[in-house]
Amino acid sequence: MNTCRDCNQPLTGRADKKFCDDQCRSNYNNRHKPGYQPAVRKINAHLKKNREVLEKLNPQGKIVVNRAVLLKAGFNFQYHTHTYLTRKGHQYIFCYDQGYLGLESDHILLVRDDGSKR
Ligand SMILES: [Zn+2]
Repeated sequence: MNTCRDCNQPLTGRADKKFCDDQCRSNYNNRHKPGYQPAVRKINAHLKKNREVLEKLNPQGKIVVNRAVLLKAGFNFQYHTHTYLTRKGHQYIFCYDQGYLGLESDHILLVRDDGSKR
């Protein structure tokens, strides 16, 4: 069975069909524009690395570490997926479910978002 090149759904109909519909065709073509893949892949790699570092340093879900420890582990402060501003005005920065908050004197609080508070 052929599957859609964009969404991987099984295809029905003509044997030479490559996409479900025009939407999947245009998604696929956009993703394969020259220049798209390397840029996205590079950023994804940084995000994945950052998440790994945070997870490794923070097995209990909450810990304070020194900024230098993160840098030494290969953490890149330029890349994150989203931020979360608390009511007290603290801005947590997240790489997927792993987050951190900058404290005084190069200390960084690592946290994990288990989804229970949303
Ligand atoms: Zn499709």
